[in-house]
Amino acid sequence: MDIGFMVYFLGAEEMREVEREASKTVIDESLRGWSYNSSPVRPPYDIPLPVSVIANRYCRCGRDVYLSYVLRQAGKPPTEARTGHLYHEIISSIVEEAKRFIYNYGTAPPIELYQYLDTMGETTIQGLADKLKLPTEDSLHVRNARKLWMYMSLEISHSLNTVLSRGVGVSLDTLVSATIPFVVNYLVNGRPVGLSERLQADALGAMSLVLDLKTGPPMDFHKLTTTGYALALESSLSQPVNVGCIVYLSFRDESPTPIVIRRIHAIDESLRMEFLEERDRKQRIVAEGIDPAKPSICDPNCMYLNL
Ligand code: SF4
Repeated sequence: MDIGFMVYFLGAEEMREVEREASKTVIDESLRGWSYNSSPVRPPYDIPLPVSVIANRYCRCGRDVYLSYVLRQAGKPPTEARTGHLYHEIISSIVEEAKRFIYNYGTAPPIELYQYLDTMGETTIQGLADKLKLPTEDSLHVRNARKLWMYMSLEISHSLNTVLSRGVGVSLDTLVSATIPFVVNYLVNGRPVGLSERLQADALGAMSLVLDLKTGPPMDFHKLTTTGYALALESSLSQPVNVGCIVYLSFRDESPTPIVIRRIHAIDESLRMEFLEERDRKQRIVAEGIDPAKPSICDPNCMYLNL
């Protein structure tokens, strides 16, 4: 476990860990995403599902899939899910704003980037909270969103400062990718591997590192999310995606910054098999309209608890 610097921006030690994991991971060809024409990667049904539906095992029996895809029940997302969505959107917005600024004024003093982001913060946070139907007044998620915005503003400006201080003339394109070395909301077609056509990985970094942001407590099955995106990316890019990184974001009243913890992991053969088995099981629930028995204990935050 490692406390990092910027949400998706890995330090030198972490990048070495990614390299180590990438080079020692051996994957049989049959478990690469590009092997989608043969078993076990070939999906048993043409029923594309989002990665989250397959990977999220809050409902162990899969009845959430039956309710949502067979009975078409909408369910009621818990507030935590909407605040998590707010933090995702905050990160995407600030990264896009910062990239836009650097393309326009890249060699301006980095303090100007910080000041620009600082002036955008409150309006963006209020606009996103409103869009997600969350209270916009001084509530906990708004205070946390402000912490996140300030943290990201400082880190991106610091990164630009560092890149500029190397003193080498670079094109604006290089300056942007060196300052913010990842793409947020990376779009990939997951259809060949039985996933949605318009999947969005939270971020894709250098060395095809696939990153996923979580705003709840760590769970074993979180690695299935990065595994699902890795299979889709391999099917679309025809290049290996061997390493994932789960980024846990949380807030404490006494801390002026968010707490950012990153877990780097190999996308190994057993994770791939586990994801594909879960995909097959959930596609079968939809294809055959199977109602899995309700277990005796359910997640108290499940959005289908009353159905
Ligand atoms: S209420 Fe229980 S069985 Fe139903 S979807 Fe939620 S966790 Fe699954």
